Amino acid sequence: MKLQDLFVPRRKISAGSPLAAARIEPGLYHYVRDAAGTPARFHLRVDSTDTGLLVANAAAVAKLRASGVIIAKAVLEGQPDPSIVGRLTTVFRGVTADQARRDVERVRDVISKLESPKDSYPILNMADPAFSSVDVPLERPLSADVPLAEPERIVPLLDRLWELAIPHVTFVAGEGCNPQWLIRAVERTEDLGLIAGVRIRGTDLLQGTLLADLATAGVDHVDVLYLSRDPSVHDALAGAGDHGAAVRALSEIQRCEICAVAEVALVETTLHAIEETIESLVARDVINAAVFAVAAPEREKAEGPLSGGALVQAAMLVEESAEQHGVRLIWYPPLRFDPRLPLAQQVRRGPRSSGDSAIRLEPDGTVIPGRGPWQPAGNLMAGDWDSIRNEPSYQAYRRRVETDTHCDTCPGLAICAADCPRHPEGWADDRGKD
Ligand code: SF4
Repeated sequence: MKLQDLFVPRRKISAGSPLAAARIEPGLYHYVRDAAGTPARFHLRVDSTDTGLLVANAAAVAKLRASGVIIAKAVLEGQPDPSIVGRLTTVFRGVTADQARRDVERVRDVISKLESPKDSYPILNMADPAFSSVDVPLERPLSADVPLAEPERIVPLLDRLWELAIPHVTFVAGEGCNPQWLIRAVERTEDLGLIAGVRIRGTDLLQGTLLADLATAGVDHVDVLYLSRDPSVHDALAGAGDHGAAVRALSEIQRCEICAVAEVALVETTLHAIEETIESLVARDVINAAVFAVAAPEREKAEGPLSGGALVQAAMLVEESAEQHGVRLIWYPPLRFDPRLPLAQQVRRGPRSSGDSAIRLEPDGTVIPGRGPWQPAGNLMAGDWDSIRNEPSYQAYRRRVETDTHCDTCPGLAICAADCPRHPEGWADDRGKD
């Protein structure tokens, strides 16, 4: 669901910003409401530019102008309509009580639709092509992918993300990850009111009581590597026995009522039966798939990764199959193949970031834009967001994804929403990382 520009700008009565006049500070506000017995979570981000974003159940995003921010905040805080109408007519010149009442009704209607149970699952749509970075220039990202590290490093990072109003964190838990670190990271994320996700292999998730502990800590979604319906294809990339572990993990995640996401890497061997792989997920009631390709430019074509052209063909197959089976699909930026490393290692490491509303955030605070060379755009712990946003690598990245690349050559592909997948310049090139 995409909801944008709900409210036309109103002329403000007071000097300065309307949000300042309404005594609303920039920052992140977290609310939990009871929606017919089901908790519904809202994050309202108020930006310094007198705009805001309302994120509902981490699944739908509405872009708000100042009047929308004022109404949404008041509604979520349970204020009665007459008080909200009074505030609007005070802050904005020329707005009648009737107009203000209608706007309040619209916001109440939107909020009640968003909090319905069918919208409370999953965590995906804000990075769906429907939430287009083209349509919604982001003052700052909505989420960060953070490799797991010890709590002494992760906790300050999370506090900083809260300060910067970045509401969603996905922890990248590598092979043999430390379960105590992961549980502590999720606990802290939830304590702050941020959205917590974990990306992990089935084998690593099933160690001890980790999944149950993550559920207790309040994890919102768990993304499990699921590469193929065929166990031999999956295990060749993810490790011996991991296919069985992934299947069990996806089932256990659902039993714990956590949002389960299958993370699929597109390479030559997994592409072979990709439609059957999607069908096998649906047969297991897994309807959220996050897909990234490992790709190599035509002139460097090696065995294993896809070429740009093959990637486009693969995207067509994946999108058709997902649509046919009602799978919610999210594309992550393609990863450029590094010939110095085994393909399996690159698949297991996974994508750099969870789409184009996300950043990669290293445990030392280094920010890496979602696409392009592995080139730091400053440090979140050392500078403010404006200094990061103005770094050349971040500017180049945003310019790329905010330029509409849709064209008629192979029309209708959601993967093109942010960048043409044929072009290696728009892939995440992590070769400079190690
Ligand atoms: S941007 Fe154009 S050429 Fe590139 S994949 Fe999409 S439709 Fe095809």
